[in-house]
Amino acid sequence: ATILAIESSCDETSASVCVDGRILSNFIANQTVHEKYGGVVPELASRAHMQNIVPVVDAAIKKAAEIHDSPFTIHDIDAVAFTQAPGLIGSLLVGTQFAKSLALALDKPLIAVHHMQAHVLANLIADPKPGFPFLCLTVSGGHTQIVLANSPYDLKVIGETIDDAAGEAFDKSAKLLGLPYPGGPLIDKYAQQGNPLAFKFAEPQIPELNFSFSGLKTSVLYFLQAQQKEDASFIEKNLNDLCASVQYTIINILIKKLKKAVKQTGVKNVCIAGGVSANSGLRKELKENGDKNGWSTFIPAFEYCTDNAAMIAITAYYKYLNKEFAALDISPTARAEW
Ligand code: ATP
Ligand code: MG
Ligand code: FE
Repeated sequence: ATILAIESSCDETSASVCVDGRILSNFIANQTVHEKYGGVVPELASRAHMQNIVPVVDAAIKKAAEIHDSPFTIHDIDAVAFTQAPGLIGSLLVGTQFAKSLALALDKPLIAVHHMQAHVLANLIADPKPGFPFLCLTVSGGHTQIVLANSPYDLKVIGETIDDAAGEAFDKSAKLLGLPYPGGPLIDKYAQQGNPLAFKFAEPQIPELNFSFSGLKTSVLYFLQAQQKEDASFIEKNLNDLCASVQYTIINILIKKLKKAVKQTGVKNVCIAGGVSANSGLRKELKENGDKNGWSTFIPAFEYCTDNAAMIAITAYYKYLNKEFAALDISPTARAEW
């Protein structure tokens, strides 16, 4: 089956073509308008999606045609998939309406995909792939979850954040350090020159497999306020150590719960997904823990970690095999259970 998938849940407009589970194209348009506001502005995001969606879909089809064995146009697709939830409602609406219109015009079935399930199944895009069952730590800008995947159709959230997401913890800490949005990649960069044990920040004690990151942000804030009072250039002088210490704390919180999840479930195929899985410290720590504890570890390629339509396409491929189609009157939802 050939699937065209569209992702528009936040601030990336993306389209992908996938043939029998093989990704032929994954075109992503990043929106830069948000940088000067220090965060994604929903209204600007939906407008940018409206401008981007036609050229992005067109580029994904053309790229796929270059790779495809036989002549290939939009008429050769078997289904149109889209991100139905969760996300910014105005952003989701653009992708949803486009997908519905296209499905209607081409007379092809429509497939609705849950964005967070897609982040998990991004691990099935390229080799080496985890066998089932596997655990996935999904760490992104809006979510932090541990998911037990028994099959593409049986994904269970067994732990999640009770407040901020890991990506938010990175971005909010970065903001306190005077770094521009999104600060996660910058913390990663400066942390590589710093001492992770230079400063100690609060690590919350949260029951079960759940996470909390709002206390860390407060702990960083109070610490910086006190230090800056003594020395107004404290942040400047200690930026590398501060970044390394913040990153160390976040990774520690994540890895502790992941270890607990492996113990509880006995599942030793361990994956990470979501934008924060680009973090070099987290990647290293996952790999080292895997080697030490006999886990098989998996991390999708970077372009499949942050928001992308290839992960929507692979999820839709499994839904297609199961004939899980959506009706044309389906609406997007900002928040959604699985
Ligand atoms: P969600 O999927 O929960 O709706 P989202 O799609 O906006 O949220 P992603 O695009 O998957 O989230 O990830 C973006 C987040 O990843 C941002 O918080 C960003 O700071 C963080 N991030 C990206 N690269 C790194 C890195 N190298 N180190 C730490 N954080 C990073
Ligand atoms: Mg994003
Ligand atoms: Fe995402």
